[in-house]
Amino acid sequence: MRAFLLPRRPICAGCAGWRLSSFRHQLSTLSGQPQTRYSSSKSLSKPNLPQGPCRTRFAPSPTGYLHLGSLRTALFNYLLARATNGQFILRLEDTDQSRLVGDAETRLYDDLRWAGLSWDEGPDVGGRFGPYRQSQRLKLYDAHADRLVQEEKAYRCFCSPSDLEAHKKQAHEHGLPTTYPGTCLSISPEESEERAARGDRYAVRFKSAKAPAVIQDLVYKRYRKAEPEEDFIIRKRDGFPTYHFANVVDDHAMEITHVIRGAEWLISTPKHVELYNAFGWQPPKFAHVGLLVNMERQKLSKRHPGVNMSWYQSEGVLPPALLNFAVLLGWHQGRGKDVMSLDEMVESFSLKFTKGDIVVSMDKLPYFQRQHTGRLLTEDPPNMTLLTAHFVDPIETIISNIESSKSGEHMDNNIDPSLLGDLVPTMSPEQGNPQSYILKALRASRPPTSTLESFVGDNKYLFWTVPQTVLEERLNDIDIENLALESKPATAGDSITFLETAFRNKPAPWTAENLNPLLKKAAAAITFVDKTSGRAVETGGYSFLRWVLLGRDKGPGLGDVMELLGKEETIRRLQLASKVASGRVGGGD
Ligand code: GLU
Repeated sequence: MRAFLLPRRPICAGCAGWRLSSFRHQLSTLSGQPQTRYSSSKSLSKPNLPQGPCRTRFAPSPTGYLHLGSLRTALFNYLLARATNGQFILRLEDTDQSRLVGDAETRLYDDLRWAGLSWDEGPDVGGRFGPYRQSQRLKLYDAHADRLVQEEKAYRCFCSPSDLEAHKKQAHEHGLPTTYPGTCLSISPEESEERAARGDRYAVRFKSAKAPAVIQDLVYKRYRKAEPEEDFIIRKRDGFPTYHFANVVDDHAMEITHVIRGAEWLISTPKHVELYNAFGWQPPKFAHVGLLVNMERQKLSKRHPGVNMSWYQSEGVLPPALLNFAVLLGWHQGRGKDVMSLDEMVESFSLKFTKGDIVVSMDKLPYFQRQHTGRLLTEDPPNMTLLTAHFVDPIETIISNIESSKSGEHMDNNIDPSLLGDLVPTMSPEQGNPQSYILKALRASRPPTSTLESFVGDNKYLFWTVPQTVLEERLNDIDIENLALESKPATAGDSITFLETAFRNKPAPWTAENLNPLLKKAAAAITFVDKTSGRAVETGGYSFLRWVLLGRDKGPGLGDVMELLGKEETIRRLQLASKVASGRVGGGD
């Protein structure tokens, strides 16, 4: 059974929620930041948002699939770009060729689009700063690495992996730092050129500063590591750049103004800033957002069911519900309104992020699912893509499985087939349009609160006719002995005839709006007499009509029910009820 509102197994039941929720870290307190190169006349001046359009990027490595944390990163960057009329860029960081996962790239596009995100530039859509796959930009990195070598800000390192390994081992044994000892630093530029020219394999190392770099972060403020960086590699022996180098070269080349990424990258940022400084470039502004952790305060593991996109997809979680859930993992809307569509997130986005680890509690997900289900079923114009995928198609399948179970072909359902008549004509593909009928039924009903199976069960007589036997049995629930029609004692048959005449003659259109006033009058004309008080129960006609049309099942308002069933089916049900009420069924008339 496809649970559509609740994860079937609560994952972190009873979780207390976010660990830190202070928003002291406001953008406005940061001063002395270099201005970014990107400028535009469009100034938006929203509080806690940078002035002018921001260019942001999501830069995943196709070494795995999108997960909750990376979706959140993509979302924050997307929101900042949209909120400032800027651009959101997708860049594939595929320089670690040994770890590539075959279908990661296509899955990434599919999952991001499934979630409702789009990008202005990227490997699949192009853009003026392309190509957007790092493996296709190797010449650019080479040129930049060469430039640093020429300027003596970097140097070739001819040490073999086994040399480096041996050094590490020895240093470790002597309790010394295992960082690169600077073996090739002393090679003269001439010798280095010569060895490179004769084909010796080499990596390129950056000459790091002697003192640790100080960086400014929009969330963590001033950040400085205790130790200086070692001379880190910027170009590997296989000719590919390292993550740090390609990331910096590309963020500069693509005119990225803001980098929002997980706090696990904070530790790498001093390296990046050193590279920016070496090139004489302005670094983008950085915002490192809190790590996602589980209830035990450990980094979310890949095995946590709420990590994988495929889990949300198979559980039927609505993409807007997931985005809403994800956006609040480290960001706060600030105006006490936590249910938001993507557009509303854009509208209220700010750079007020939470500092510190974020405990992921799945408890809130069902709440967002319910809220977004309600929105989806009522909003105009309807979002047909989501409605069809999440409601209409699965409901159609459930109904057709139940139909098969009547002939014993399919037994897995929660509804007793003996309670069901035939499918209503509109549900048969030959006579009606089941998809649009299901959609109308959904929109007329209260938002489903549990599973789609129970929605079908609760509203079964919108989809199937009410069998005579069910009507007969449920007639016992109504006190037809004490019925009055327009204040005079009447039989159930009289009352039904009265209703039938009223509705049969009702001029078109057969819509709830047009039927409701008549329905109200007719319902008021039929009263029950309360046996003890002897008083008439007003609007008894509603209860009576609910028996006629739905065998007394709960469901949408009767005007909507009549509109859904259509005039012909409504009249047919009235006639059948008339027979049942008059006790003439089966006796011939
Ligand atoms: N390629 C890195 C990743 O896989 C990007 C980190 C960053 O945003 O700089 O997450």
